[in-house]
Amino acid sequence: MTINIDEHSGFCWGVVRTVQIAEDQLADARRNSNVYVLGNIIHNPREIERLEAKGLKTITLEDFPQLANIGAKVIIRAHGEPPSTYRAAWEHGIEIIDATCPVVTKLQERVRKFWDQGYQIVIFGKKEHAEVLGVRGVVGDECVVVKSVEEAVEHVDVSKKTVLFSQTTMDRPTFNAIKNVLKSRISELVVDTMEEIATEFHAKDTICGQVSGREDELKLFAQQNDVVIFVAGRASSNGKVLYNVVSSANPSAHFIESASEIEPEWLEGANTVGITGATSTPQWYMQEVAEHIKSVIRNFVS
Ligand code: SF4
Repeated sequence: MTINIDEHSGFCWGVVRTVQIAEDQLADARRNSNVYVLGNIIHNPREIERLEAKGLKTITLEDFPQLANIGAKVIIRAHGEPPSTYRAAWEHGIEIIDATCPVVTKLQERVRKFWDQGYQIVIFGKKEHAEVLGVRGVVGDECVVVKSVEEAVEHVDVSKKTVLFSQTTMDRPTFNAIKNVLKSRISELVVDTMEEIATEFHAKDTICGQVSGREDELKLFAQQNDVVIFVAGRASSNGKVLYNVVSSANPSAHFIESASEIEPEWLEGANTVGITGATSTPQWYMQEVAEHIKSVIRNFVS
């Protein structure tokens, strides 16, 4: 059996940047160990464990009062935060290390710009997702968040001039369906392209090219392997989107968070097994999954 690790998988550059910022802070802070991250740094339990072993501590906003004026540094992860978080940090004498992905920062700036011009802001996304909470905060929650065409039809006020954005990790087919239904009902609809960075990120809209740009090669990779093991944290939005791409191209695809979830029967009769993952799945963990599969096969044969 051949095991293939998808060479296009692994961290997107936004996550690479966030993890690097955390590593740099941890290296600097060896003596005072006051480095915290607000929420899970990425949606991948194994990478969180690795960074926590180096001293990173995961906190919530409720922990801010305990960190007041002790020289704490709090990392903002790639998803970004609303302005209220920066204010709360300042009030508690906490230093913010901002590792917000530049794509998300740009999205927040664009949303704010259209809001200032009096547009109704519509966001295709998940209302409680960290990135969307950040964007909602930028406009004082004056926006409509929808995750389906039905919700768009029900909740968007078609009499207003409107701009449509997407959470960066949503799926393009649903986004396009929402765009089309709003286009047919709203006379002044803008679908924002974040034009300043569109070329760099291959962006037709605010869905990140690091997610949507992978779809074609991911389909091909899924079709080229008899069985596909998709590795991601279950809380990862782009993990769900990319897994749907894989499973629609190959019905013998399996979503796992940990190598121990692999069932030997999944591998029966397969000549090739492909391993791929989300933008928050580290390459080193896919290597571990490959080693695990080899040991499963050895046990199976012996
Ligand atoms: S998927 Fe895109 S928006 Fe999200 S962290 Fe990666 S580069 Fe940034």
